Amino acid sequence: MIEVDLHLHTTFSDGRLTPTQLVRLCAQRGLRVIAITDHDTTNGLPEALETVRAFPHMSLIPGIELSTDVPGGEVHLLGYFVNYTDQSFQDTLSRFRDGRQDRARRMVEKLNDLGVKISWERVKEIAAGAAIGRPHIAQAMVEAGYVQYPKDAFERYIGRNGVAYVERLKLTPVEAVRLLRKNGALPVMAHPTYSSTKAGRDEVANLRETLQGLRDAGLVGMEVYYGDYTPEQVAMLSRLADELGLVPCGGSDYHASGNPGEPEPGTVGPPLSTVKALEALRHARPRGD
Ligand code: AMP
Ligand code: ZN
Ligand code: FE
Ligand code: FE
Repeated sequence: MIEVDLHLHTTFSDGRLTPTQLVRLCAQRGLRVIAITDHDTTNGLPEALETVRAFPHMSLIPGIELSTDVPGGEVHLLGYFVNYTDQSFQDTLSRFRDGRQDRARRMVEKLNDLGVKISWERVKEIAAGAAIGRPHIAQAMVEAGYVQYPKDAFERYIGRNGVAYVERLKLTPVEAVRLLRKNGALPVMAHPTYSSTKAGRDEVANLRETLQGLRDAGLVGMEVYYGDYTPEQVAMLSRLADELGLVPCGGSDYHASGNPGEPEPGTVGPPLSTVKALEALRHARPRGD
């Protein structure tokens, strides 16, 4: 039985359930510990924390997800027990969100030039003030009938190798780990390897060396029990986490995206011992400080 899900998105970034709807869904699915990890924002956390109070058997870890660039790819970092009252951290997040906005507008322009006539106004309406991301553009493309599912938009147009892809301001993975540590959050590498339902997302190159380097900068864990990973992928990552002394984390990465076969809360996640390990590190004044 799955009791923990440490990777979830809400309407405050590119998820399609509000924090309240998401927390209720997780409670219905019998989860005991969840973390909300929106992209570049903590603004959904107060509502989620308030809603969780109605479910005494469940607790919420405040989290965040940051995207970083490496040559030829991306590494995402999750931060747990994030201190969302940290003003300097919030200023940085706000800059990342501005970067998302510019980049989304440029992607819509590129799509328009390619004959995909979705409007920037509609994309902004769909995002409704959230940290705007490619899934909002994908949704506009579904609505307008250009693709059947959001994932199809990634495959042809807005995925890393798509014709309408545009870069945005991103940190390096080490910078993101340091930023999270400075905030007091515990950094964890997200989805380290290939995911079959997210075309165009490859494994992190030189995974072991990358993890070792990040661990020296303050990384404490990596996702192992993630999304649609196969038992073989989980076994490989679990061995690696063990060898490197990293906490084996994970979760569904649920967005209510509308993609077929999307892993849902309650179908995948780490054991409760993972939460205990994170809590111990949190109180331990971790490495790098
Ligand atoms: P962004 O933050 O704008 O770079 O968008 C990244 C988000 O898009 C991820 O967190 C996923 O929710 C989604 N995503 C990335 N790649 C894919 C894919 N191939 N298919 C569907 N969704 C994807
Ligand atoms: Zn996302
Ligand atoms: Fe991610
Ligand atoms: Fe995510």
